[in-house]
Amino acid sequence: MLGFGKELTDYWQSFIRLIYPANCVLCRIPLRLEETYLCVTCTQKIEPLKAPTCVRCARPMAPFGRQRSTCNSCRSDRPYYDRGFALLSYQEPVSTLFHQIKFQNKVWLLRIFLDCIQRHPNSYEFKNYEMIIPVPLDSRRARERGFNQALIIAKMLKRTDKKNTPPIVPLLRKVKKTLPQSQLRREERLNNLAGAFTIRKQRGIRGKQILLVDDIFTTGSTINECTKVLKEAGADRVDFFTIARSHLS
Ligand SMILES: [Zn+2]
Ligand SMILES: [Zn+2]
Repeated sequence: MLGFGKELTDYWQSFIRLIYPANCVLCRIPLRLEETYLCVTCTQKIEPLKAPTCVRCARPMAPFGRQRSTCNSCRSDRPYYDRGFALLSYQEPVSTLFHQIKFQNKVWLLRIFLDCIQRHPNSYEFKNYEMIIPVPLDSRRARERGFNQALIIAKMLKRTDKKNTPPIVPLLRKVKKTLPQSQLRREERLNNLAGAFTIRKQRGIRGKQILLVDDIFTTGSTINECTKVLKEAGADRVDFFTIARSHLS
């Protein structure tokens, strides 16, 4: 019976593909029946972030050996967050995919990363957290884009383990429009983000263990600023999860 059901599904899928041929969103070659959005070749170009990584900021590092497990940058200028997890390396083709998602509003492409989350399980444990907080967009950007990719990623995490994931609580609010951090110098970055985030319900944060979720870790300053605001409101621990992490910072 099951086999029959699968054949029927395959039949319908090939029928639909015949009427609506689909192409790889990156290289444009026609997709095979079992491929969604990306062809096998482009999928293989997606690089998981290579271990070992700095336990605090998830930066890929040389094998630890006698070294410590935090990178030089975290030791000289300790960030507010306690621990970081990232799945993929922020380089081609992941950067182009995110560009299409965010600037061409192709929200459905986030689905590609759900497959990545399922294929490359991370070492965080949901039971360590009491809530997941997505990094917010300012209201104008949220209106223009129509979705917050960080919230969708938080929901994708929840789908991987419904039983153990803590609730998604959007307690952070972005009250100031900011420039992309990667285009600014260090001092400008701090000014750019100062006062950008506030908390909806201060009482909800005190003593909590929080997993902060965003799409990409580039300079890390957005995640650090969100963590600072959460810690000032009394959060006990803030770790972060991002789909991709840049090697440059
Ligand atoms: Zn392709
Ligand atoms: Zn580090």
